Amino acid sequence: MPPTATREDITAYLELIEKDQIKPHRLPDCTQCGLAACYFKIHAYRERRFLIIVDMTVQSEYAPLVRFRCPACGKTVSFYPDFALPHKH
Ligand SMILES: [Zn+2]
Repeated sequence: MPPTATREDITAYLELIEKDQIKPHRLPDCTQCGLAACYFKIHAYRERRFLIIVDMTVQSEYAPLVRFRCPACGKTVSFYPDFALPHKH
């Protein structure tokens, strides 16, 4: 899995958001109540900066990050596209 994205990745991702094709199925089940992720509802979009590679240089691009909400317990979970997995420190 690449650590950074290309502009094509971002474009494809934005297209998914536009067409409402971001689905929660790939998320883990709710860590709080165990509800299956496929029942999660879209909660909010949050603008986030992504790093992408353009002509061998790193540039930043803003794209929305989708947040889902567990309808059972109210816990919210962010959906990260493949190219933007959260950094683990
Ligand atoms: Zn839950």
